[in-house]
Amino acid sequence: MSTHPAPQAGAPAPAVQAWVGLGANLGDPAAALRQAVRALAHTPGIRLLRTSSLYRSAPVDAGGPDYVNAVAEIATTLAPHALLAVLQALEQAAGRERPYRNAPRTLDLDLLLYGDQHIATPDLTVPHPRMFERAFVLRPLAELAPQQVPPAALQAVQDQAIGLWRPVGWAD
Ligand code: AMP
Repeated sequence: MSTHPAPQAGAPAPAVQAWVGLGANLGDPAAALRQAVRALAHTPGIRLLRTSSLYRSAPVDAGGPDYVNAVAEIATTLAPHALLAVLQALEQAAGRERPYRNAPRTLDLDLLLYGDQHIATPDLTVPHPRMFERAFVLRPLAELAPQQVPPAALQAVQDQAIGLWRPVGWAD
């Protein structure tokens, strides 16, 4: 028998803590990230808790300008696929096109972690399948949630070039 009380009809859905990876390398990438974070904060069912510093990273497996990357920590009452739909709508609104794999992008939003859930569906895998290969995800995530990033994982990506984004930060 479950020891959890049954959810009451009409009771608000419990919020789940989730982490979203943001990246952009076209146009004004820092402005694109600022805009995306503002939009997330104004989306019903999403509460923005914190954002990491802005980072700068060289493109992985691709050419083009450096990326600006960050991670946002949110509390959300949206189900995982509904949250993914929000992220994809924001990418579309930023004018993202996908002419080829790893093409430069005005805005890339990834659902990294959704509570402690493991999700494996055709269009959504959580934890994000490639997050542990990428310093530009692990470094900002570790800044916000070090408990989610084992030291060995950070060490495994230490050869990837990444630094803090200068001269501008979130406030600029
Ligand atoms: P990308 O081009 O790297 O942004 O990949 C986008 C595709 O990855 C979309 O078709 C999504 O359905 C899929 N996808 C699978 N898992 C995730 C995730 N955790 N976050 C974002 N997109 C995901």
